[in-house]
Amino acid sequence: MILGIECTAHTFGVGIVHKGKVLANVRDMYKPKNGGIVPLEAAKHHLALSRDIYNRALNEAKIKESEIDFIALSNAPGLSPCLIEGMKFAKEKAKELRIKIIPVNHCIAHLEIGQSLKAKDPVLLYTSGANTQIIAYSSKKYRIFGETLDLGLGNFLDKFARHTGIGFPGGPKIEQLAKKGTKYIELPYSIKGMDVSFSGMQTKLIQLYDKGEKIEDLAFSAQETAFAMLVEAAERALAHTQKNELVLGGGVGCNARLREMCEIMCKERKAKFFCPENSLLTDNGAMIAYTAEVMYNSDRKVAKEYSKIDISPRERTDEVNVSWKK
Ligand code: AMP
Ligand code: MG
Repeated sequence: MILGIECTAHTFGVGIVHKGKVLANVRDMYKPKNGGIVPLEAAKHHLALSRDIYNRALNEAKIKESEIDFIALSNAPGLSPCLIEGMKFAKEKAKELRIKIIPVNHCIAHLEIGQSLKAKDPVLLYTSGANTQIIAYSSKKYRIFGETLDLGLGNFLDKFARHTGIGFPGGPKIEQLAKKGTKYIELPYSIKGMDVSFSGMQTKLIQLYDKGEKIEDLAFSAQETAFAMLVEAAERALAHTQKNELVLGGGVGCNARLREMCEIMCKERKAKFFCPENSLLTDNGAMIAYTAEVMYNSDRKVAKEYSKIDISPRERTDEVNVSWKK
């Protein structure tokens, strides 16, 4: 029985996983009143809600604290104050329950939960707020085949939404507005090899909005252009790696149009398309617990060593240990 804690940025979440099954997945997202995430404020949010979310997760899973075997913690990459708050909570609980903490890389968790759908050897299109990457596991490493050169796809949508005053998170609101868009407006389509860039499109969108273009048409055009770039890059990665499965991960994967475009591309090249349910796409504790269980089951030796592993939070991850991955 593994209890996973997600705390890297806006969301504090607790998930409980047993034998690959999600028994609970409770979370709450910090929403800034205006502007972007203020890390210290997000950390205060985590501190204020951690106990309540933890208790709600135990209730949802219908288990007692004493049944938890491990605590899994998202210790990197993320915002320092948020990571520290999550670590303090995990350490306190681990001490109280006399169990160990398994540190889990947040990005890898987004990828692993996608593979819970039984994809064997996929290319992963990972589109969250801060991160946008095309990743595949090859020669014992997760390798990045393409990525954004500036903004993450979610942050790109959120920034445009913020400029127009429709609030945070902007992605879901832009999706609704895009459904009412009737005119496609050409926007900078920036893809180099398997890398993409969104800042040119963002400037153009803001200029057009300030000139009075309809927000519905801009939302529609932004989605069509940005998603097409990523689907093109993902298709190149499939061709390059000779893989025939695509997994979509990260919060923007909740977008029905992005899923549809991925599906069409996969169908055309006879590849399989997988996408987890929405509650597992945006940041959540269940994906952290799920990944810890995969790590534990893959290499018990690694699990025994956890007491010695450094769980200190890290803002960035330059090297990820995936020795547990087969
Ligand atoms: P994550 O960082 O993985 O938790 O994902 C959060 C990001 O996903 C935010 O930038 C949201 O705006 C974005 N997002 C969530 N739902 C949708 C959606 N339906 N369409 C587009 N973006 C979305
Ligand atoms: Mg994330």
